[in-house]
Formats: sequence, C-alpha cells, structure tokens
Amino acid sequence: MVVGNHRNAQILISESAVQHNIRQERKRLKDSDSLFVVVKANGYGHGAVNIAKIAEQAGADGFCVAILDEALELREAGIEKPLLVLGLTDVQYSSIMAEKNISVTISSLEWLKEADALLEHQGLPKLNVHVGLDTGMGRIGFQTKEEFSEVVDYLKSSPNLNFEGVYTHFSKADSKDEEYFNLQVERFNDLISVIDTLPKYVHVSNSATSLWHASCNGNMIRFGVATYGLNPSGGELKEPFDLKPAMSLTSEVIYCKKIEAGRAVGYGATYVAPAAEWIGTVPLGYADGIVRKLQGFKLLVNGKFCPIVGRICMDQLMIRLDEPVPVGTKVTIVGQDGGENISLQDIATYCDTIHYEVACLFTNRLPRIIVK
Ligand SMILES: *Cc1c(COP(=O)(O)O)cnc(C)c1O
Repeated sequence: MVVGNHRNAQILISESAVQHNIRQERKRLKDSDSLFVVVKANGYGHGAVNIAKIAEQAGADGFCVAILDEALELREAGIEKPLLVLGLTDVQYSSIMAEKNISVTISSLEWLKEADALLEHQGLPKLNVHVGLDTGMGRIGFQTKEEFSEVVDYLKSSPNLNFEGVYTHFSKADSKDEEYFNLQVERFNDLISVIDTLPKYVHVSNSATSLWHASCNGNMIRFGVATYGLNPSGGELKEPFDLKPAMSLTSEVIYCKKIEAGRAVGYGATYVAPAAEWIGTVPLGYADGIVRKLQGFKLLVNGKFCPIVGRICMDQLMIRLDEPVPVGTKVTIVGQDGGENISLQDIATYCDTIHYEVACLFTNRLPRIIVK
C-alpha cells in the first residue's frame, strides 16, 4: 500500500512521549537490567524504524520483533543493537540470523539439530538462541524440565549455537486477579531450576509484568505497548508512572455542506437527516483502519465532539457538524483538541476490542510523522 504523503490525513508520533515512557521505565530498573523495546507489527502501528531510533536515544538496549523480516528491516536501517525474534522462524533462515546477529526463539530440539547441521562449517558467528518456556500461555515453548534440560545440554555441546536466553510469557500480568500469574511464575522458577548456569538473558516481562510485577523481571524486559504510552491493562490497573500516549491521528474537513431534512448520507442511505444539518466529509475510511464499526463514534472539530453519520466508506467518512466550518478545518480522530481528548482506548471500547488492535489496524496509507 502506497504511503499517502500528499493527503490530508496523518498519524503524528510524539518523540518526547516515547522518550518519556522509556526513560521513566528505565529509572525503575537496575542499571544491569536490559530494556528491550518491542517494535513488532511496525512498532504497534507507530513506525518500527523511527521508534527504534528514538528508543535507542532514550536508553533501549535492544529490540524484540515478531518475525524475521521485521528484524531485517531494523538491521537495514542501521540499527546495530541486539535483536530478538519472538515468534518461531523457519530453520532454513538460521544462517541469515547468525550472519546478521539476530537472536532466535526456539521451541523444539529438532529445530536446533537442523540449524546446527545447516550452520556447520559456514564460518558464521554463533547463532544466539533464546529458549521459550510455556508456563501457561499455551502458545510456544517447552513445558517440561526434561525437555528443557535436554535442549540446554544440546546447546552447550554445539559449536554453532550460543545459549543466550531463556524466557516465558504471561497471559494475565495485566489483571487484578494474580492467581494465574503466580502459577506461571512458580512454573518458570521450577523449570529454570534444572540448569546450573543461567544464560545472559533471563526474561519474563512484557509491559504489564514490568509495570505491576517488577520483582519478577529477571535481567531483561520486553517493553511493548507501554513504550507507546498505552496502559496494557486498558485501565483495570493504574500505571505506576504517567504513560504519555505517542500517537495522534488528524485529518481535515475537505468538504462541508448543508443537507435538508430527509436527505440521506452514505452507502445504503442508512442515515437520514431528521432536520436540516451541516455535514462534513473527512478523507479517511476503513482502508486506513477506521473500521466500519466506528459509525456513530464522535470525532473532534474545534474542540467539539461530532458524530460519524452514515456508513464509513473505504476512503471517506461523514460527520455531523453543529455549524458550517471552512474547508481545511482540523479533525482529530486520536489525540487532543481544545480541552477534549480521544484516546486509542476510547476507540477500542467503542469497538469492543483492545487499543493494541486499534493501533495495529492503521494502515501504511497513513503517513507517520515524527513531532517533538
Ligand atoms: C508482544 C510481546 C511482548 C510485548 O507485550 P506488551 O504487552 O506490548 O508489552 C512481550 N513478549 C512477547 C513474547 C510478546 O509476544
């Protein structure tokens, strides 16, 4: 999808907000702890390369991504810090990962054996391996001590592989109910008790874990959504420092007109004006990630809330205005206008989802612009 650099709509990313969130978190860690910023899915829709560059300046020690291509994008952009791919990668790419110093997550001994064979006599640096442990997420990772110790023995004996890390992932670190979280902690401690020398990185913390269970952190954290100023619990738990949202999304009224009572707006003519009304057209639609479910949601114009009326089109949507406004008047979809604010959480609540998903759904057609 082409980037709309010539359109009247853009995502603005606040550099100072990202720096603030990372610096505040950094202060809560020990100096010897490593803070890896998670920039998967194009930095949760914020722009992976730009976020990584800002994060480096704010003190990030490395980055986590979901797929190998996201790591390669960072290497190509000149990022030299450690990179960890959190998802599973096909073994045929083990030499690229060794060559580019990209750490891999593994969940099977077979994978290691195949990688070992592929890397043999290639003269590459050792491939850095993080062993995933499944303590209750039910996604990837080893579940038993027997499997884990067999893998660690194998890693130690291989000249091509380096046992760099071990980790798990929590499914309920963002909840008031801590019972399941504590069960996962117990299982993790039990699993890692089988090895006598721990690897360089022992890590369990996503944003929620580090914000609310920092005592479990290990020596590295995978700081994701909170980097972007979003509360991982969506509001169930209060953040220990003020997170500053990094993203805003603004557009303009590109057309404004009066319609008479009884005139309809949008596909299906589902909205019929009960009285004469001012309608503004905004050049944003579901192809930008403004999902059709947002019909009725209120956007900000001149500090006042204006509802989306009629169905959202692929590239345009219509709002009801209290009064006529000049073409070019700013429309805020996410962010502050006057004394009012629309958060990603407000959109998520309206659509019955989580802010993570809302941010990821904004497509590349919207340019990401860094502001101070
Ligand atoms: C996405 C992800 C994270 C980051 O989670 P946040 O809730 O965004 O902090 C950390 N670890 C793993 C394994 C992940 O998949």
